[in-house]
Amino acid sequence: MKFPIIMLACFFIALLAVGSAGEMITNSIDEENRIKVPSRMRDLQAGIPVNPPWDDDSGTKLVLLGTTGGVTWYPGVDSASSSSALLVGDTLYIIDLGQGSTSKLAQAFNSKTSDSGTSTFLENARALFFTHLHQDHIADYPSLLLIGPGTGLGTRTDPVTGNVTIVPLVVIGPADRGALEIDKSYYIDRKGTIIYTDSADPSQVTPTPGTRQMTNLTWQAFAQTINDMTLDNAYRDFTKLIEIREIGGNQQGDIYFPVPDVDLANSTTCAAMDPFEVYRDGNVVVTAILVDHHQVFPAFAYRFDMSDGSVVFSGDTGPDTRGNLEKLSEGADILVHEVIDRAWIDERMGFPNETSPAYALKTHLLTAHTTIDAVGSVATNCSVDTLVLNHIVPGNTPDSHLEQAKANFSGRLIIGKDMMMIGIGKDSPVHSLP
Ligand SMILES: [Zn+2]
Ligand SMILES: [Zn+2]
Repeated sequence: MKFPIIMLACFFIALLAVGSAGEMITNSIDEENRIKVPSRMRDLQAGIPVNPPWDDDSGTKLVLLGTTGGVTWYPGVDSASSSSALLVGDTLYIIDLGQGSTSKLAQAFNSKTSDSGTSTFLENARALFFTHLHQDHIADYPSLLLIGPGTGLGTRTDPVTGNVTIVPLVVIGPADRGALEIDKSYYIDRKGTIIYTDSADPSQVTPTPGTRQMTNLTWQAFAQTINDMTLDNAYRDFTKLIEIREIGGNQQGDIYFPVPDVDLANSTTCAAMDPFEVYRDGNVVVTAILVDHHQVFPAFAYRFDMSDGSVVFSGDTGPDTRGNLEKLSEGADILVHEVIDRAWIDERMGFPNETSPAYALKTHLLTAHTTIDAVGSVATNCSVDTLVLNHIVPGNTPDSHLEQAKANFSGRLIIGKDMMMIGIGKDSPVHSLP
């Protein structure tokens, strides 16, 4: 019997570098402004040191919020799952939101010194991008949505007038994937439960909801608290604070996905294509391309072009993207790439016979993800100066294993740790956030 290839994926890692922040509060401001001005802006105006150093002159920054991949917590590992942020000026762009990453987001960007009793730090978040909809990339999305109205999400406060306007956070991610694991017999034989969405509209019933439906179902799942918060606590309408733009969706505002010649019936979920634009504003142009995270379709890599430089996020992928990742990375400065430790797979799974179910699973892990010994060649072929390892599986992979990525890469290798801040531009310094 054919064994189903389970979308295993990821796991954990650890470590945190912890620094410490700066100085004492030196100024105060009048009570009028204290009420109206967003906390971060107010702190800057008041000369209060904020965390991180927003006003340093190192330009655009890449902040690693969560650097593990997968769904299993390893003993002693407290690192969050996959999530990164780009800070352009004081504007935030977020890439994936795996387990624990909302807390890291607050740890990184919510001023510790505000004395107003409320925070508006998410006013600075302009767009959120999902590479694909596995839990180690989305689990903290409901958390972000729920804390949103209490932290300024989807709003802007005029620092002079104090007037608040709604500027929804743009949420970009895949549309409904439409198909599950091809061979479900192994699971169904064991009376496994396949979950479908519940809807009055049969056309909306699916086992693989896309970004919009996932969001709408989140509102429904948390209806009790959301209704109470808006009716009793005068919170803003949660649903107005975000704007969904699905890649490949068919609603107004959705993003056209030029689907290449894939063969989903045979699990061929990646084919050669050209990058396509998914987002643009005054700070960034974001392009996407298909990568190989079979049987997930689509799974995207993203590239952010900014005035200080360009950063590519691989998302989850095997090393062979039919040239797509190389094409997306052309002329980029930094590649943030997932890795899995082959030694860990060997230790867990041994070396199964080619006809055994375990062999298929092992092959899957080695081709739908990228092993440490393969990622250096990927970075070399992508011609980037800096390779940042993230989505590290397992989470407790020793640095000595991760350093093997240097074998086929002569550029700068950065082993990603939660709360690491990497400058983008000439000097591109690396710091650990407090
Ligand atoms: Zn993953
Ligand atoms: Zn995945």
